[in-house]
Amino acid sequence: SEREVFLRELISNASDALDRARFAALEDTEIRAVSGEPSIRITIDKEQKTITISDDGIGLTEEEALQHLGTIARSGTRAFADAIETKGDDASTLVGQFGVGFYASFMVADRVLVRSLSAQKDTSSILWSSEGAGSFDITEGERADRGTDVVLHIRDDASEFLEVDKLRDIVRQHSDFIQWPI
Ligand code: ADP
Repeated sequence: SEREVFLRELISNASDALDRARFAALEDTEIRAVSGEPSIRITIDKEQKTITISDDGIGLTEEEALQHLGTIARSGTRAFADAIETKGDDASTLVGQFGVGFYASFMVADRVLVRSLSAQKDTSSILWSSEGAGSFDITEGERADRGTDVVLHIRDDASEFLEVDKLRDIVRQHSDFIQWPI
């Protein structure tokens, strides 16, 4: 009933990734630079039925994608799932209390792609994809600049989210405090 929180979670991850890139740049001049002002961008493609959340952040290496996106064990999603199990089916009141993380994407998407290039030099771009049913693939990607695009293939029952005004309202409501331009 509160599926819209997927966007808060993905924007929060994008913002963290931008923070981490900023800190890395202070410590290490060897990271990939970004051209222009770092930001978070949200794009709707109504024909393809996709929403893409893009950032110029720290990005993910293949190993990191495997470790961090390949399992819900280390994310807020696990704690959320555990709480649902102990508190029965009262999930809607729990959603607001947990950062449910990247896996919240699958509340509105039946396929998720992550295109990423790490800010670390000597790494290559990756494409992670999953239908959220317990497995994922990682192949060579095409992203040329550092950062991440999360592409959500929106489920038929979630098409309300393919409206700019709707997303704008959600961003205002849930992500107003984000320090990076959206
Ligand atoms: P949490 O943010 O609570 O750690 P998530 O499930 O949302 O859990 O994300 C898991 C991990 O995946 C993050 O900790 C981060 O390492 C990585 N990640 C997710 N989104 C991004 C992104 N846009 N850029 C870089 N890394 C990301």
